[in-house]
Amino acid sequence: MRMARSSAVVFTDLDATLLDHDDYGWQPAAQALALLAARDVPVCIVTSKTAAEVAALRTELGNAHPFAVENGGAVAVPRGYFDGARCDAQTPVTLTTLGAERDRLRSLVTRLREEQGFRFTGFGDMGVDDVVEATGLDAASALQALERSSSEPLLWQDSEAALKVFSAEVAAAGLVVRVGGRFVHVLGPAHKGDALDWLRARYAQAHGPILAVALGDSGNDADMLEAADIGYWVARPDGSYHAPATGHIRHARGVGPAGWAEAIEALIAHHEI
Ligand SMILES: [Mg+2]
Repeated sequence: MRMARSSAVVFTDLDATLLDHDDYGWQPAAQALALLAARDVPVCIVTSKTAAEVAALRTELGNAHPFAVENGGAVAVPRGYFDGARCDAQTPVTLTTLGAERDRLRSLVTRLREEQGFRFTGFGDMGVDDVVEATGLDAASALQALERSSSEPLLWQDSEAALKVFSAEVAAAGLVVRVGGRFVHVLGPAHKGDALDWLRARYAQAHGPILAVALGDSGNDADMLEAADIGYWVARPDGSYHAPATGHIRHARGVGPAGWAEAIEALIAHHEI
């Protein structure tokens, strides 16, 4: 691929950042995305979603760039991308695990369940119908959510005390438990910042140093914004921000994709990218 003179690369969260919190629309950012495309500035999606879940959105966006899934657990690079091949959203990707392979996660949690009697139902125990029931997703989306490479969500059906013991056991195995809204996630130690670092190194190797711009809205984006050269918090639906603006991390003026667009347009207007 051809790189912009400034060699900026944009790394972005999806939910409540590039995508609207309520309707998942990205239209408020459409013009900013077009401005980046016209400048050959790559936009790399960095999300908690799975590769299968991201595929349809990349097609919709016409996005042909690398992306990171499952909170930095794995990075996907379109084949030939860093060797100058012409890629599009359909180009097959090579997935590299930065965290832990799902097989390893599954064998740990099932062993702990057998040995200590923890009560939970993991995605690996579920079929499409079970995921539909647990999440409210439609069947096609549930199928995409089941195609995981580097994380295992669990419906926790045991006590808080048991979760503490379970978490300690997982940590002792060098892995991580993250408690989300609906699920308890078991994953490797990689996070979104590791995905940015990994992609930054690949871009640098192929084209020279980059200016990494990262945008996010919530706690699991913090290390990605920290790892970037310029970070932006977009506002949350109530107008507040996850954290103060400090150092290289700024506040975008606007909620979700509207803030995203404002940040990108400001960077362009001030000749930062
Ligand atoms: Mg988000």
